Amino acid sequence: MSGHPDKKRVLIVGGGTAGWMTAAGLASLLGDHLDITLIESEAIGIVGVGEATLPHIRHFNRTIGIDEMDLMAATSATVKLGIEFCDWARLDDRYIHPFGDYGVPSDGTPFHHFWRRAIDDAGPIGHYSLPVVMSYAGKFSPPSEDPRSLLSSYRWAYQFDATAYAPYLRRLAEARGVRRIEGRITGSKRDENGDIASVTLENGESHAADLFIDCSGFRGLLIEGALATGYEDWTRWLPCDRAVAAPCEHAGELLPFTRATARGAGWQWRIPLQHRTGNGYVYSSAHTDDQDAEDQLVQSLEGRPLADPRVLRFTTGKRRKLWNRNVVAIGLSGGFLEPLESTSIYLIQQGITYLIELLTAGPAPEPVKDEYNRMMDLEFERIRDFLILHYHATEREDTAFWNDMRNLRIPHSLEEKMALFRARGRVQTYDYGLFLEASWVAVYLGQRVVPSAYDLRADEVSEEELLGRLSSMKAMMATATKRMPSHADWIASNCPAGARSAA
Ligand SMILES: Cc1cc2nc3c(=O)[nH]c(=O)nc-3n(C[C@H](O)[C@H](O)[C@H](O)COP(=O)(O)OP(=O)(O)OC[C@H]3O[C@@H](n4cnc5c(N)ncnc54)[C@H](O)[C@@H]3O)c2cc1C
Repeated sequence: MSGHPDKKRVLIVGGGTAGWMTAAGLASLLGDHLDITLIESEAIGIVGVGEATLPHIRHFNRTIGIDEMDLMAATSATVKLGIEFCDWARLDDRYIHPFGDYGVPSDGTPFHHFWRRAIDDAGPIGHYSLPVVMSYAGKFSPPSEDPRSLLSSYRWAYQFDATAYAPYLRRLAEARGVRRIEGRITGSKRDENGDIASVTLENGESHAADLFIDCSGFRGLLIEGALATGYEDWTRWLPCDRAVAAPCEHAGELLPFTRATARGAGWQWRIPLQHRTGNGYVYSSAHTDDQDAEDQLVQSLEGRPLADPRVLRFTTGKRRKLWNRNVVAIGLSGGFLEPLESTSIYLIQQGITYLIELLTAGPAPEPVKDEYNRMMDLEFERIRDFLILHYHATEREDTAFWNDMRNLRIPHSLEEKMALFRARGRVQTYDYGLFLEASWVAVYLGQRVVPSAYDLRADEVSEEELLGRLSSMKAMMATATKRMPSHADWIASNCPAGARSAA
């Protein structure tokens, strides 16, 4: 591979969301130090799902200088204020895990303790979350930057066309010096230390580099195919291992949230985009078969199908090392936690962020790789526990799948967290990793894990005052929401599909 002699040569293998996010991120932030090449094969293509995101992606896009409204128009994006979970703890239950806080904390006492004290009169905790109220009203307006304002209590993400994000990033990355090579990689060569020296293409070309970033998807071409790094299989905790996906035409209002409806052997997603609705049934092949899953999905579509159903297979878990020798696995090649909380693109982003924080000019010393692997392990394990909570904390007894999930032997780390919340309403906090207190509270309470005791400081107001505060909070949220435009109007005024020029 030719290139700048003073720069570290980085070769990205794969051009899906992971490959082009990595290329765009590295070129934008370390472009002066790196000579970046990306090899992808149009014949192989990309996985083409991954439509729901988390608010963190907005920070990534801002950091690399993307005009957000332009991106949203180019990817037919809508706003996501959270995920609605239907039928999870019991049939007919529903709650939203919002991107935002509940109520207002009082002298350091989290709001949910006050709510717990008033549990018989307060109604669902979602009544005290502005993004939940906005979601059910179908409204949206960007949050305020004034931390004193109620309007600063939420964040948002997008639901977008997964096949349009990577091409958008490609234009940006190529404009910042990333070289793209089209071709199928058929082999790799190792150097005398066992590191990867080069990859070989079908046409015989060979491309050498100092650092390889494996973004080849589930194949894990280098991290597994060449280095046999090994995989930690978490199917025993998260048994869903397949998904059948099918987009359909819109029906009804353009909702600003993703819906996850529990089904007999898993759950179904509904993701509204501007031009269509994305749907998929994520299921456990030990509990149902492909045909049954496809039938259930197709029968439940709310509009005319726009493509044939497509089955995807996966094994929930992660590589034993995400950075092994001179290969870093980012994206599906590094592992996959099923899409219940839309965490995959977030994990790509964290992989890029830690890589940028740890890259050295020469070969990476072992402690640097160890630290990368430690940080990524924390990210994966914390998300894993949060996902298991949704399945395990259920009262459903109607199918073998839900009985198995209810009786599951969960990881000790989650057992401890749940016991603490049940005993005292306390969320075990951590510095690194996704999902902070409000997220855990949303899912605990939504799944009917209710604390038996609350913070004693919640008793410091009289009952009358507490009920008065709760009712004025609800009124404030209703008034704020009423003033906002509908989600559909906001999209139409700011980022209608195709209205802006692509990057
Ligand atoms: C059912 C399902 C639903 C999902 N939903 C969400 C969601 O809502 N939110 C979310 O954040 N994530 C979601 N994800 C995950 C998300 O789709 C991925 O994280 C994201 O698309 C990144 O994929 P990737 O780039 O790692 O792999 P891919 O898209 O598979 O890209 C792999 C790349 O490697 C190239 N390649 C492979 N082999 C070779 C070779 N031999 N030679 C040359 N090139 C090669 C391919 O051509 C391609 O460019 C979902 C995943 C699944 C399976």
